[in-house]
This record gives sequence, C-alpha cells and structure tokens, in this order.
Amino acid sequence: MSILKEAKNYELLNTCNKCGFCVQSCSVYKEHLNEAYGTRGRLRLIKAVADGELERTSFYEKIINSCLMCEECSKNCPSGVQGHLLVQMAREDLAREKGLPFTKKLPLEKILPNNKLRSFSFKSFRNFKNIVIRPIPSLHSIRGININSVNIEKEDFLTSYKPLEVSKNSKFKVGFFVGCLMNHTMKEVAHSIVRVLVNEGCEVLAPQEQRCCGTPAHTYGHSKITRELALHNMRLFNEMKVDVIVTGCASCGNMLKNYAKVFKEDNELKDLTLEFSAKVRDITEFLMDDLKISVNKNRNNLVGKVTYHDPCHLVRGQNVTLQPRKILRDIKGIEYIEMPGANKCCGASGMFQYFYPEESMAISNKKIENIKKTNADYVVTNCPACYHRLKGNIEANKLPQKILHIIELLDPGKQIV
Ligand code: SF4
Ligand code: SF4
Repeated sequence: MSILKEAKNYELLNTCNKCGFCVQSCSVYKEHLNEAYGTRGRLRLIKAVADGELERTSFYEKIINSCLMCEECSKNCPSGVQGHLLVQMAREDLAREKGLPFTKKLPLEKILPNNKLRSFSFKSFRNFKNIVIRPIPSLHSIRGININSVNIEKEDFLTSYKPLEVSKNSKFKVGFFVGCLMNHTMKEVAHSIVRVLVNEGCEVLAPQEQRCCGTPAHTYGHSKITRELALHNMRLFNEMKVDVIVTGCASCGNMLKNYAKVFKEDNELKDLTLEFSAKVRDITEFLMDDLKISVNKNRNNLVGKVTYHDPCHLVRGQNVTLQPRKILRDIKGIEYIEMPGANKCCGASGMFQYFYPEESMAISNKKIENIKKTNADYVVTNCPACYHRLKGNIEANKLPQKILHIIELLDPGKQIV
C-alpha cells in the first residue's frame, strides 16, 4: 500500500479545506500563476494520486519536486495544514513507488552520506573549477548558479580542527555540528564560531566523524538514508555527553531539531531522539538565549549599514528571528536596516536551484531588488546555502554589497574589509 493511503497520512491530506489562503504565499506559484504549482493545487494532486485518480506522471513529479520547502504555506494556513510536510510525504511516496533518478540517487545515496567520498568530490570540483571553469567566463554560471563565486576549501574545517584551550570551568560543553557546506566552503566562518564560543567560556568539540545532517535525503524522500545519518549523528553526539549542539547552518539546525519528528513513531528511538533534538541550537539562539552575551561593543570595528536575510529553515523552520536582529541592532557603530521581504526565500533551496533554474532565478532576483532598496553595505545571513546564493547573485549583478555570516560580526579575530 502506498504511504499516501496509510490512515494517518490520508487523514492529513483531507484536512485541506481548499480555502486558498496559502496560494499567495507560495513563491513558486507566483512565478507560474498556475494552480497546480500552489500548495492547494499540489495537495489536490497528491490526493488524486492517493485515490488512484491520477498516475504518478512526469508532470506530477515535476510539480511535487518544484517546492522550495520554504514552509510559507504551512505558516499561513488557517487550518494548520503542514503543506510542506505533505509535499515531502509525496516525494517519499515517489521515491518508493518509482525510485529516484540517477541525478538524485548518486548524491543522496553515495556522495553526501560518505565523508570520504564527499571530501573527494569537493576537492575534485575545486580542481575542476580552478583549471576549467575559472578561465572561461561563460562557464561561471551553471543553470543560474554562480559557481565561480563559491570558495571550495583545499582542506576542510573538520580535518584540521584542533580544540582551542578553554578555562577549566567552562560554562557549557558544546558539540559543534558544522554541516557539509560550511565544512567544505566556509572554513573561516566555522573557525569564527569556535572562537566566539571559546571566548564566551565554552569548550567546543567538533567530531570529525559527524556526517551529513540528512536534509537533502529527507527533502527528496529518501527515508532509509535520512534514518541512517540521523542515527549516526545522534549516537555520536549523545556519547560525547555535550550540554548543547550548536550549528551555524539553518538547514542543519532545522533537520537536527526534526530528528525527534522523523522518529516519532519509533518507540525504541524515542528517548534518544528527544534527548538529542532538545539540545540543538542555532548559534544566534545559543548566544542570545542561553549564554545571554552582550554585544553592545563593536568587536571588529565594522562600520556601515547592515541588513539581514532570514533563511527559511531558521525563520519558519525554527522560529528564530529576533535573536539575529537583536545582535545586529545592538552592535555599536553599525546601522541595522530591515530588508523588505527579509523572510522570503532566496531561491536556493538546495538542489531546487539546479533542477528549477528559471524559478530559482526569478525568486532570487526579487531578493536582489529588495537588497538594493536597503542601500546596505553588508547583507548578513545565517545559512551557508543562502550565503552562497546571495553572494553569487550579488556578484553577478555587480552590486556593491558584501555578504557576511552573522558570526563574523561577533568574532574579534575576523578581519572584515
Ligand atoms: S493548505 Fe491550508 S491555506 Fe491552503 S487551501 Fe488548504 S486549508 Fe487553505
Ligand atoms: S513549502 Fe513553499 S514552495 Fe512549497 S508549497 Fe509551500 S509555500 Fe510553496
């Protein structure tokens, strides 16, 4: 039996009353103005498949995969329908019933879960980029993704990480979940996170054995790999007996907090998942809510206007919106400007930007227009995927803004020019 027909899932599909309240909040719908691409339309199609009225056609697959997982529909539904979760369920059904295409199967099953293979892939791509892509401007943008602007580290953060000394009476024993993208493309930001935490009196452990959080596998319905990765990460961090698990990646944080939901029906794992997920914090949440740090001094003498982009997986996935803004408003010497549409998706959404380049670019361009309206000198965010998408588009549009991860503003050891 298809998972869509399982009683608890089928019931969820039937809670949509078709009011259409969600449609206007769906960025993908706005690009197509076609009911099928809005949340209500997607849910109707999923129900038709569940009822046997519709085959899992390639058009159906296209619609189901063209969701950003931005959660806007779920936040705006008066009936509490979790549209993004139902789309995720439909993807799981597609993966089970039809199997994943090779273009997804290879990264999801083989590359991302395997630390060695992932490292090898990043390094190979680094060489390819330096030798082939960089000298040929027409290759700098692949399907609208500004590949040339992405820095890929020669040596990743976790391989070279040596714990920094901390006073004996550390306030918290912190497990640092770095995340694949930060590990391989934003090593200096990862070092900034460690320095800020150690300066605040925390012991920071960043185990090399940590694996992908599972977001890509979960997003595309590969439950076996999601489960495997989650179990590995939970056991690893639980055995280290850390007080909290901190990350500077919105998508990783969202996934780690959701392990409890992924395994909610697994009685055997209930305690493990609850213990783990309760410890997960976004770096801004941990600094402001747990450590209650004071940021009323300018730690790296940055001056100018600063604006902020909310990653979907932080603002809606984790309800973290005040903490980053408090940090930016409190730092002396900088002026915080709220961006119009700050909480709208940047258009990246993992593999979405590769598979749906036109929609992704149109959504990204709206973000670029909003950045221009702020006249800010710096655009700050808190997620490596958003960081790269924004950086790539800012550079491609020749805008003057510089992009920063929020932790860089708090790290006295970081030179911002
Ligand atoms: S998902 Fe919610 S907002 Fe959208 S049509 Fe259904 S009930 Fe209305
Ligand atoms: S999660 Fe975002 S893109 Fe997907 S249906 Fe909901 S609003 Fe649209």
